[in-house]
Amino acid sequence: MMNSTKTLTRLYTDADLAENAPCALGSGPAHKLRVVLRAEIGDEILLFNGRDGEWRARLTDIGKSQAHAQCLMQTRPQTAENGPWLAFAPIKKDPLDMLIEKAVELGVAKLIPVITRRTENRRLKEERLSQQIIDACEQCERLTIPTLEPPITLEQLSAWWPRERKLIVCAERRDAPPLAHAVQAINGPVGLLVGPEGGFTDGELDAVLKQPISIAVNLGPRILRAETAAIAALAVIQATCGDWSTKR
Ligand code: SAH
Repeated sequence: MMNSTKTLTRLYTDADLAENAPCALGSGPAHKLRVVLRAEIGDEILLFNGRDGEWRARLTDIGKSQAHAQCLMQTRPQTAENGPWLAFAPIKKDPLDMLIEKAVELGVAKLIPVITRRTENRRLKEERLSQQIIDACEQCERLTIPTLEPPITLEQLSAWWPRERKLIVCAERRDAPPLAHAVQAINGPVGLLVGPEGGFTDGELDAVLKQPISIAVNLGPRILRAETAAIAALAVIQATCGDWSTKR
């Protein structure tokens, strides 16, 4: 029985969740339940959809292309998770996988791929990234699903960025204040911008930093890989002005 351990399998569904609601699970979750977890009819799982909180549900049928479950009771109500946004230049596959997974775990609310002059990876597999986002949400017990925006250029990002959200630009080799100092003064929504492995060009950095909403920050004396920079900076943001800094 898969439910002998204390944590129940947690799956994302796009179906509405409510008491006694039947819920169809697609081929991905059905495969996971049948082949990976060897689940049986009658087993309990947890379901979430990003809207209706988290529900304990009982499996009523496990087929090859679909599985069904019935909601039993809500285990957690839906809460807002107003995490930081992350604008990132898509990097190579393995580091990008790492960046996406960790950004979800660290509570990012919106992922925005940004095409820069030196962007390495211009053909993003959006379906694959969306699945990675869901996998990470299932694993880290998030109740919300971060949105994945279509790729935009750095110029488009500057034009589109909401004026009330600070844009924290990771700028190595510039005379910028340390991130931890810079974020202390912020109260309100934030987003982080991290460049590609080759870095931003000087012109790109100048243009984005001309926006009144942008602030340049440094992440210490070493040059970090893009994914390291994103993960480390998100941890500092969450610990200083995000949901690691508020009492639960
Ligand atoms: N090739 C570039 C480094 C790019 S590092 C060079 O040698 O200058 C990739 C991205 O990570 C950068 O665009 C920047 O956004 C971020 N980054 C890495 N190290 C950083 C640091 N010490 N301070 C601020 N940002 C950093």
